[in-house]
Amino acid sequence: MNHLPRFTPVKHEQDAVGVRAARRAAAAMLADELGCGSVKRAASSVGEVYLVGAGPGDPDLLTLRALRLMQKADVVVYDRLVDQAIVDLVRPDAERIYVGKRRNEHTLPQEEISELLARLAGEGKRVLRLKGGDPFIFGRGGEEIEMLAERGIPFEVCPGITAAAGCSAYSGIPLTHRDHAQTCIFVTAQGKNGPVELDWKLLLRPGQTVAIYMGLAHLDELMREFIARGTDPDLAAAVVDNGTRRGQRVITGTLRTLAAKARDAGLRGPTIIIIGSVVALRDRLNWYSPEPAEAGDGPNDAVGAETARSAIDEKRVRVRC
Ligand code: SAH
Repeated sequence: MNHLPRFTPVKHEQDAVGVRAARRAAAAMLADELGCGSVKRAASSVGEVYLVGAGPGDPDLLTLRALRLMQKADVVVYDRLVDQAIVDLVRPDAERIYVGKRRNEHTLPQEEISELLARLAGEGKRVLRLKGGDPFIFGRGGEEIEMLAERGIPFEVCPGITAAAGCSAYSGIPLTHRDHAQTCIFVTAQGKNGPVELDWKLLLRPGQTVAIYMGLAHLDELMREFIARGTDPDLAAAVVDNGTRRGQRVITGTLRTLAAKARDAGLRGPTIIIIGSVVALRDRLNWYSPEPAEAGDGPNDAVGAETARSAIDEKRVRVRC
């Protein structure tokens, strides 16, 4: 005898109608939230700053909150690591200010960026400070808003997917895995005044994945140092270049071979270095086949930013609701 509950098509149909109605309501709410619907924005003379993480590259990795704040802001201050495709999602009439490196110039000093944010907010503007990845992970986001806090300027912080998480997912290399790594450590190879002196005791733990930001320029040295301090030279390691973007490239090897392979591949960054046996999982878990990069893809470097700016003047891009 069959004891399974009988299929009841009528109820199912009702549920489906309910689900569709809920989906429509949710879509309408989202459109309103994004500023594409009927919700009116209250005019305000008090400015504020939104420090927003734009994620590692792929615009689909923005959070809904980031997108919402991007529709609210009157002016956007962005730099090199934010892709043009993401900047193009801000409100079409928002003013855009690029504070990244230009050819033969340096990035605007930190204090000047903070000063700029404070000045714009002082003019009553809603200021979007858009940063790559997560603003509080090696992003100097904390430093940028300290001055705002001191001066009593309202601000909020919106997290983003940090590069290590984006690179991990899009390269099929889980940062933790019960058979491989129970801890994962994020470190930067670059400090305020040049390369940092790494805490090697902390890095060389077994069962740990190490994700290194800003390490490409020191890759050779880093790999040599791991080996010199007793790590197995055959331990797996990878470099993920332009992770989550169309032109993503992943080079895998071992501590012994990775630097030479990365050099031969002519990687230009930005890159995340991943060290640990989890790298071997990529053979089975790699799912992302990026298309080749096109002109204008990638981080907003000097040339990219300039050409992109003129393209924006010609064609304002809208978020489709
Ligand atoms: N706040 C950012 C990190 C800023 S530091 C975040 O949370 O991701 C800049 C470094 O981030 C780069 O030098 C590189 O190491 C890493 N990075 C950023 N975007 C990347 C990407 N798409 N692919 C690989 N590494 C990236």
